[in-house]
Amino acid sequence: MRKKIVAGNWKMNCLLEEGQKLTSEIVHMIKDEPTAGVTVVLNPPYVHLQAVGRLLAGVDQLFLGGQNCSDKASGAYTGEISAAMLASFGASYVIIGHSERREYFNETNELLTEKTKQALSNGLHPIFCCGEPLEIRESGSHEAYVKDQLTASLFGFTEEELKKIVIAYEPIWAIGTGKTASSDQAQEMHAAIRNHLAGKYGETVAHEISILYGGSCKPDNAKEIFSKPDVDGGLIGGASLKSRDFVDIVK
Ligand code: PGA
Repeated sequence: MRKKIVAGNWKMNCLLEEGQKLTSEIVHMIKDEPTAGVTVVLNPPYVHLQAVGRLLAGVDQLFLGGQNCSDKASGAYTGEISAAMLASFGASYVIIGHSERREYFNETNELLTEKTKQALSNGLHPIFCCGEPLEIRESGSHEAYVKDQLTASLFGFTEEELKKIVIAYEPIWAIGTGKTASSDQAQEMHAAIRNHLAGKYGETVAHEISILYGGSCKPDNAKEIFSKPDVDGGLIGGASLKSRDFVDIVK
C-alpha cells in the first residue's frame, strides 16, 4: 500500500505568531478528528521550522518539510539553506522544483537533480514537482512535457533512491488560479506518470510511489480528485493557510 499524503505549502506567508497559531490549530484538529492513515506534512518558510517542528513533535501523523533546499552541501552560498540543515531541524520532507522556483528562480531540470541528491543523501523525502504551463496543455503535449521533466531530473537515480521520492503533479494553470484540473484530467496524468516510472523502474516500484495532485485543491474538490486510483493525496497551497480547510482536505 502506498502512502496517502497531504502536504501544505505555505509559500511566503505567515509571520511567526500566525504560523504558530496555524500549526497549533492543525495539531489539535488532527488529534481530535479521524484522519488516520494519512501522512500530513507542513512546509512552512525556513524561519518557521524550529517553532513549527516543536509544535508537531510527538504527533505521529504530522511531519515537517522545507519548501526548497540548496543544490550544494555547505559553504559560501549566502542566503542558501542546505538539506542537512533542514534535517537537523527535524524535517523529513522537502519540496523540490516547485513551478514557482522553476519560473522565478530559473531552476532547471539539471539543478533539480542536484537538489534531489542533496535531499536524499540527508535522509529527506523529496516532494518532486512537475507540471505543464497552459500553452503546453492547450497544444496537447502535456504528457510528453511532464515525462520529459521526470526523465531529465530523476531517471539517473537508483530504484532504492526513487522509492524515497514523492511526485507532485501540479498543472501550472491550476496553481493559485481557482481553476483545478478535473478529476479525470488528474487521473489521466497520474496514470501516465506511473506508467512512465514503470517503464524505467518496473511496475512494482511504480506502484509504490505516491503521486500527489496540486493546484487549487480545496475541501470541496479534494474528495473527488483524491478518489481517483492514481491520486495519492495533494500538495496544497492557499488552502493550507486555513486550518479548517486544510484538515478538511486531509479528512
Ligand atoms: P494552490 O497552490 O493550492 O494555492 O493552487 C498549490 C501549490 O502551488 O503547491
